[in-house]
Amino acid sequence: MNTKIWLSPPHMSGKEQDYINEAFSTNWIAPLGPNVTQFETDLETYLGQHVHVASLSSGTASLHLALSLLGISAGDEVICQSFTFSASANPIVYLGATPVFVDSEEDTWNMSPVLLEQAIQEGIKRGKKPKAIIPVHLYGMPYKVDEINAIAKHYEIPVVEDSAEALGSHYKGQKCGTFGDMAILSFNGNKIITTSGGGALVTHSPEYKQQAVFLSTQARDEAPHYQHSHIGYNYRMSNVLAGIGIGQMSVIDDRVKARRSNFDFYKSELSNTLEIEFSEEPNKDYYSNRWLSCILTPSFESREALRLAFAEKNIETRPLWKPMHMQPVFEKCRHYSDGTSADLFDRGLCLPSGSSLTEEDLNRITKIIKGTVFANKITTP
Ligand SMILES: *Cc1c(COP(=O)(O)O)cnc(C)c1O
Repeated sequence: MNTKIWLSPPHMSGKEQDYINEAFSTNWIAPLGPNVTQFETDLETYLGQHVHVASLSSGTASLHLALSLLGISAGDEVICQSFTFSASANPIVYLGATPVFVDSEEDTWNMSPVLLEQAIQEGIKRGKKPKAIIPVHLYGMPYKVDEINAIAKHYEIPVVEDSAEALGSHYKGQKCGTFGDMAILSFNGNKIITTSGGGALVTHSPEYKQQAVFLSTQARDEAPHYQHSHIGYNYRMSNVLAGIGIGQMSVIDDRVKARRSNFDFYKSELSNTLEIEFSEEPNKDYYSNRWLSCILTPSFESREALRLAFAEKNIETRPLWKPMHMQPVFEKCRHYSDGTSADLFDRGLCLPSGSSLTEEDLNRITKIIKGTVFANKITTP
């Protein structure tokens, strides 16, 4: 049995096809229609907190619009978590602004409040007060929401919450995606639920939602002809894809449960027998959707040995995100780092984490870890 095990494949419920068929039979094959409205309502209900959701073409587009709505423009500086996927930072550059990267703390692997405050204070001293802060709930683990929000509030800087990986996660019982002045979600093919490609902007402000919808549909003024007084974008979600989203939202709780149980399986199989560390929820306030199950090995060498052992057995794994301050494209950007995310990148590996993994798959995966080179460092329980 050597069938491919993917890192995080799409997992359809079967109901998606009905909504797609509905879109076809009613001929709503456009970036508007009843599925778009329904999908937004489903997300608003699920997230709670009276949020408003605009479903868009991608998480990246959502972040671009969010920053644009905050008035970020050329010459501005925006603080971004360094330990993330590049899409958290790219939209800053689309707007001609400059990212300033902030390293992670060890508890959640997300933005360090200490380094954040340092970055803000030094920015202010240079006459460049940051215009926004982008913290990320990486791999589904909530960042230190209270600490980050308190700093943002103190310095009066808006937070754009990157919740692309964290639909279904919560902090102190409140869903991720509801903490920032604005938040973004992603429904890319590898995320916990997918519309094949898609995203959403989440906000507490009905005006922001209205503006997001306006800008994402080419910013047409009200007139019988095409008239424009703003630069618009073509960023609205298609009604066909929103149909997939409705089907996926009907099983979101199952998907979270399945991903969390992957993590629990890995942990119970591995934590007492090998020198492997897991990203733990720091306390009961934190609830991760466990989008990806991540482990830390003793060294870069053992991480690589393990990754290659998996590849040989047709199993897809991936090193943790390479921090943005170490990326060639952001080389010249200012950063506040203390080595935390560099170490995570060196030693960390994302294990297959799909909600459709079988027990047989999971056993195949843990067997490889138990049999790999650094297994000689076994500490008997
Ligand atoms: C996936 C992802 C995005 C971008 O979402 P897309 O829908 O792929 O554009 C942004 N930030 C993070 C942390 C992500 O994982």
